[in-house]
Amino acid sequence: MKRVASCSCGALSITAQGEPVKIAVCHCLSCQRRTGSSFGVAVFYPIDRVEHSGRSSLYERLGDSGKPLTFHFCPNCGSTVFWFPAFRPGLVAIALGTFEDKQGLAPSLSVYEDHRSPWVAVEIERD
Ligand SMILES: [Zn+2]
Ligand SMILES: [Zn+2]
Repeated sequence: MKRVASCSCGALSITAQGEPVKIAVCHCLSCQRRTGSSFGVAVFYPIDRVEHSGRSSLYERLGDSGKPLTFHFCPNCGSTVFWFPAFRPGLVAIALGTFEDKQGLAPSLSVYEDHRSPWVAVEIERD
């Protein structure tokens, strides 16, 4: 299984092999600001199963763990396509909305529920 995710203009992309290790809906305020929406959805893959292409600009911020997250966004269109959370070494997070094909990509957990907008309901699929 190979999935491709890319920014709005297509200049920055990342290709992931196999299935993600987890998919997290995050309602935190930083994800709300990053996406401009009410929550973000991160699709986590092992770093050795992804390959990115195109130029990216970086934005780094400290997470609640005290460790940095490094976001890669397209310098042309501004879409954040992927990021590296230092508190999860070895994993890269890819923004769900940037995948060309979202089939089979359903959340496995929902975090920062304290900041969840009351009208947002997340259905977690369990197998
Ligand atoms: Zn772009
Ligand atoms: Zn978040």
